[in-house]
Amino acid sequence: MTTKRPPTLLEKMGLNSPMALALHLPARYEDETQLSTIEEALDLGKFDSIQTQGRVIRNQVLYRPRRQMLVTIEDGTACLQLRFLNFYPSQQKQMAVGSHLRVRGEVREGYLGPEIVHPTVRVLTPDAPLPTSLTPVYPASAGVSQAMIRKAVTLALQAPSLKESLAEFLPTQLMAQILPTNNWPQLQDAITYLHQPPADADTQTLLERTHPAWRRVQFEELLAQQISLKRAHAIRRQRQAPTFKQKETFAIEEELLKVLPFDLTGAQVRVWTEISNDLSQVFPMNRLLQGDVGSGKTVIAALAAARVMDYGYQTAVMAPTEILAEQHYLKMKEWFEPLGIHVSWLSGSLKAKEKRLVQEMIESGKAQLIIGTHALIQDKVSFAKLGLAVIDEQHRFGVRQRLEIQQRVGSELFYCHQMMMSATPIPRTLAMTYYADLDVSVIDELPPGRKPITTKVVKATRREEVIGGLQDWLAKGLQAYWVCPLIEESEALQLQTAVESFEQLTLALPNFKVGLVHGRLKSEEKAAVMAAFKANEIQLLVATTVIEVGVDVSNAALMVIEHAERFGYAQIHQLRGRVGRGPADSVCILMYAEPLSFTAKERLQTLRETSDGFVIAERDLSLRGPGELLGAKQSGDVMLRFVDLQRDAWLIELAQKAAERLLAEHSDLVERHLERWLGSRTEFLKA
Ligand code: ADP
Ligand code: MG
Repeated sequence: MTTKRPPTLLEKMGLNSPMALALHLPARYEDETQLSTIEEALDLGKFDSIQTQGRVIRNQVLYRPRRQMLVTIEDGTACLQLRFLNFYPSQQKQMAVGSHLRVRGEVREGYLGPEIVHPTVRVLTPDAPLPTSLTPVYPASAGVSQAMIRKAVTLALQAPSLKESLAEFLPTQLMAQILPTNNWPQLQDAITYLHQPPADADTQTLLERTHPAWRRVQFEELLAQQISLKRAHAIRRQRQAPTFKQKETFAIEEELLKVLPFDLTGAQVRVWTEISNDLSQVFPMNRLLQGDVGSGKTVIAALAAARVMDYGYQTAVMAPTEILAEQHYLKMKEWFEPLGIHVSWLSGSLKAKEKRLVQEMIESGKAQLIIGTHALIQDKVSFAKLGLAVIDEQHRFGVRQRLEIQQRVGSELFYCHQMMMSATPIPRTLAMTYYADLDVSVIDELPPGRKPITTKVVKATRREEVIGGLQDWLAKGLQAYWVCPLIEESEALQLQTAVESFEQLTLALPNFKVGLVHGRLKSEEKAAVMAAFKANEIQLLVATTVIEVGVDVSNAALMVIEHAERFGYAQIHQLRGRVGRGPADSVCILMYAEPLSFTAKERLQTLRETSDGFVIAERDLSLRGPGELLGAKQSGDVMLRFVDLQRDAWLIELAQKAAERLLAEHSDLVERHLERWLGSRTEFLKA
């Protein structure tokens, strides 16, 4: 038996094959190909990174203002100081008087004349040759030196197996037709170039990753991604799903339209037509219904559920939080119970007995419309005949939890239709890459009567002033929200601050009734407070973020958000969507406490300037990166290593075209390409 050796540091970084090393591309480069005399180096001026060399003529350790080593080198043209604030005895020895050093760094004006603080130092003879290529600097983890990675990469690039792995097999003709220029190198050359760019390489484009060598690599990576997304699309179309065409006499659907207290907006009619059309196909729907907060997505879900129920199939509606789910439950009850349809509620917090009861109803098919949190998937509930799954704010569930509900009725195997709903618009680039197999419908129109919201950003030190304004507001007979922030570290602390604000506001506003709602309240208690607010028995509602979703009180058109700097873009956007629903002009006050980080400042500013969910989502994406938006937080899950969706957006279209042609004309090459780029990660894309 062979004993298994522990993985090396490089292997721990995933650098376990020549191919992995070849694809471990530099983050930046250092130019060690040029050598200046010290005199030239000093002439270059401040802030320039230079390489020079000389003999050590002095080496002293100073103790003031702190312990440090000062080394002076000289080359016959001039002298230069090297300053080390941390150093080892070995370095002291290495840089003893008389040794010859080649150093790199930025020259600046020090106390004792020109100096370099912490230069890169090598002990070399004066005539040691200069490297002919730029020196790569690799992403590394703790304990792994650049030298280690450089050596391993250099070896990997010479490995015979790598030639095979990087062999060119994309048809030349196809590439020539699709690529914008013919100056993109072959893959292997591109990779070699990126590891060892020649001395005269254009470092700017290398750094910005817009160099043709980078383009080539990025294109290949995108191509792999597009191929696997297109395959997922094709696979879905081969799957069976029950068809729900609009009936001649469509009982529940028609009834529902009658009981609704409003007419659908033009946008709602359009998306419902799209979804209705999907439901009448023989393969499962996979559609995202996108619409800003308050645009009226829920009723579309209800219509889809009605259609499915008209065929005797079940619908499950899932939301990521209990409050969100509850809101759907209440709305659906309001609409469906007058039609004699029982709406079932299933959440993690139900008592075991109640839960079992609901589960039995689901299994027997008696429950037709089931609303709940993701307990619905997690608890492996088995549905008698699930026809449609509606997932609200699906990005919060995470990609891995996307459903794959297979059903068996008799001997027939089928997949249910799926509809995702989100108020967070997916930027186009993201939709084209990560969500290519998702059809998208957009509600781009708010129900009539909505007013734009004025957003103000105010320092917390002006709290008294804000409360004064609140007083005037309430005196007009209007209502308001006061939102206390989520404190992630401690629910108790969060409750405490909410209670404090509640008490302060109760005292400050004696003529009005102030209510408090928070996550610790029981459902009935919460519902009671909400009902009182809706009935205007409560004029000011102090709340932790439980009102993030759902509440719908059109007379409440003012919202104050405390510690707005602690909220993310999407949260504030959602919260703010609660106001602006009635005839009054709506105001949202974002109170912030100093110090404000740069990103928080930028965020508040954006939120003040725009209430366009699309703009906000774009900002969010550039700040957080796609991983988080998708719900796949672990960086390892993010598929694209070399592509930046914003910088390289135009490449996506090329890759899409190439993927289509490759699948159609060269299906034999597809597997090979996927294997090269994705390896084990293809699983992720199928999720
Ligand atoms: P969201 O898209 O944020 O989930 P909702 O579905 O909760 O929005 O709808 C917000 C509010 O607008 C609800 O009270 C809903 O009943 C109402 N609503 C939806 N559609 C219309 C419409 N066409 N006309 C008037 N009100 C509507
Ligand atoms: Mg909603």
